[in-house]
Amino acid sequence: MSATIIDGKAVAARVRAEVAQEVAELRERTGRAPGLATILVGDDSASEVYVRNKRKVSAEVGITDHHRHLADDASQDEVAAVIAECNDDPDVSGILLQLPVPEGLDGAVLTGLIAPEKDVDGLTPISVGRLVKGTPGLRPCTPLGIIELLDIHGVAIEGAEAVVVGRSDLVGKPVAALLMQRNATVTTCHSHTRELPAVCARADILIAAIGRPRMIGADYVKPGAVVIDVGINRTDGGLVGDVDFEPAAERASLITPVPGGVGPMTPAMLLRNTVQAARTQLEAAVR
Ligand code: NAP
Repeated sequence: MSATIIDGKAVAARVRAEVAQEVAELRERTGRAPGLATILVGDDSASEVYVRNKRKVSAEVGITDHHRHLADDASQDEVAAVIAECNDDPDVSGILLQLPVPEGLDGAVLTGLIAPEKDVDGLTPISVGRLVKGTPGLRPCTPLGIIELLDIHGVAIEGAEAVVVGRSDLVGKPVAALLMQRNATVTTCHSHTRELPAVCARADILIAAIGRPRMIGADYVKPGAVVIDVGINRTDGGLVGDVDFEPAAERASLITPVPGGVGPMTPAMLLRNTVQAARTQLEAAVR
């Protein structure tokens, strides 16, 4: 294997330690810790695990827990009322509505009700608009985690040819926007892209956010490329990414594993966003 393996767990631990220090400083300066409201509707077991993990890492860095759990049969109005309460609560710095919400609720409409200054997932239309325009705001966590991994490893983004496979609102589109802001030349691919291996093989930075186990083989990877695998696929053989790791690692210079690559970065960046939100709210209150 020629590639250096990116240790996302170690980078995430470093981010969490930085955030813990910032939380302590904020608490000392203001007497208040940043607070995170995770809103979970229903009993979907995967969502419960994600929310539990986010609450656990938040508590570990000193962020106050304002978790809200609504029943499976909660109405759109009931969820909207909880979001409104959190929007108005000065102790809540960040709000996260765990998606997907149960059938019958409109997750996109509900997400859009979150106050932009508390939108720590960066998914409301206002946050998306700010991202695309490049004005200050909260950015989605997984894309932020990817940029952090690239930066920490000294990857030159400016001028690089970046190819993103996947155009979801959660990962593909926002990571493409962040890379473009950093002056990469970005190509976004999807299920209608022709000659995908050849397009990917142009990339200095290749990002796979597809949800197809081991789809990206060695022929997609330019020798020396940086390969970031966002995919999380549960297979009979265990958890695998969208990249066929061993053959891709033979050609790449840097590569993320699954698990232990991008995955740990997402909750770490949520914590950083929560502190950023708390700071912005504090500054607005002082003004
Ligand atoms: P998604 O919403 O399902 O989007 C998948 C994207 O891949 C779509 O744009 C789709 O194209 C494209 N695609 C599907 N098949 C393709 C093919 N054969 N060739 C080219 N493009 C193809 O998924 P997502 O939410 O972005 O998540 C992607 C993966 O990342 C999943 O495995 C997910 O579990 C994982 N994930 C990980 C993290 C983390 O923290 N590590 C966070 C979020 C997601 P169309 O638009 O044309 O349909």
